[in-house]
Amino acid sequence: MDENLIRIHPEMMNEQIILHLDMDSFYASVEIRNNPDLSGKPVVIGADPMQGTGRGVVSTCSYEARAFGIHSAMPISQAYHLCPHAIFIPPHMATYAQVSATIMQILRGIAGEIEQVSIDEAYLDLSCDRSYELAAHHAANIKQVIRNQVGLTCSVGLAPSRIYAKMASEQQKPDGLTVVSPDTLESFLKPLPVGKIPGIGKKSAQVLINAGLQTIGDIARCDIQTLQDMFGSHAVRLHQIARGQDREGLRESGKRRSISREHTFLRDSTSPDEILGSLHTMILSLCHELEEQNIYSRTIGIRIRYTGFITRTKSVTLMQPTREVRVIECAIDGLFTEMWDRSPVRLIGVRFSGLIHPDPVQRSLSDF
Ligand SMILES: [Mg+2]
Repeated sequence: MDENLIRIHPEMMNEQIILHLDMDSFYASVEIRNNPDLSGKPVVIGADPMQGTGRGVVSTCSYEARAFGIHSAMPISQAYHLCPHAIFIPPHMATYAQVSATIMQILRGIAGEIEQVSIDEAYLDLSCDRSYELAAHHAANIKQVIRNQVGLTCSVGLAPSRIYAKMASEQQKPDGLTVVSPDTLESFLKPLPVGKIPGIGKKSAQVLINAGLQTIGDIARCDIQTLQDMFGSHAVRLHQIARGQDREGLRESGKRRSISREHTFLRDSTSPDEILGSLHTMILSLCHELEEQNIYSRTIGIRIRYTGFITRTKSVTLMQPTREVRVIECAIDGLFTEMWDRSPVRLIGVRFSGLIHPDPVQRSLSDF
């Protein structure tokens, strides 16, 4: 091994090293892996485009599709107009959940505790490596293991806090490895546009730009009072992040907080059969994911968006955590009947939260 890789810098002895891993265009990559004929082609995962009249949005697309300007969350009809010859594939959630479970298992095997934040994203704490050189070596190894065992690429960022690690992993997609050590953090942050800060949406970015703050470096130099006038109580954290002072590590000892599905109807629906049928499909898919990951849900929620984008949500917390389809369906039916005012429904969603990860050795379900 290169001597440099095992040298420990004394000033970094107690430095926190967080890794963020994000699979590259995950759903599309799984489809391409399973069907190599799709390789090199624009592939779009999402609702049926129906020759450009379809409803719903793009879930993920391949990098070839991105070249046409297609991106996640774009209306599927728009994606169709941008690239009618793209290959449109409906999502196969059960498959993605399975692949995800394998990846997370690999990561747990490597790092012990992880924080999984979505189906294809996780944070790991590599502080044990003690130096960024070693952690970078470790990160390259993780990428290699995932490539060998799962056949997919991911992008990884290493940095002193979770938010900087996430920003780092975004820097060189696909198949990137970006290391931002405490020494390089300031120069990394300084030139980035303000919109690169996770949690800064388009609106907040515009507020900052209107105030003459284009880059993260501009925010760092700005006085806190000016920021407080714009963002109130969030200003302190924003300032801290921009100045490279954030050191937040993994959250909630790596447990996911919720999983959800939603469905947009082709035509706004007033048919209880159609709506309940769609809820049933989502419940099956979510229960499958609970099963795969060996977790249970305590809180079951439903979201209804009516014509005109009015959205209502309601949830119920059960006596016992469960992943039984029958029990969950009963809860959802109850919520739906209470909520639905018979107006046309544009979108329906189901969300399981209060997720419980039982420790198979020490606990049985009856202990909850
Ligand atoms: Mg991803």
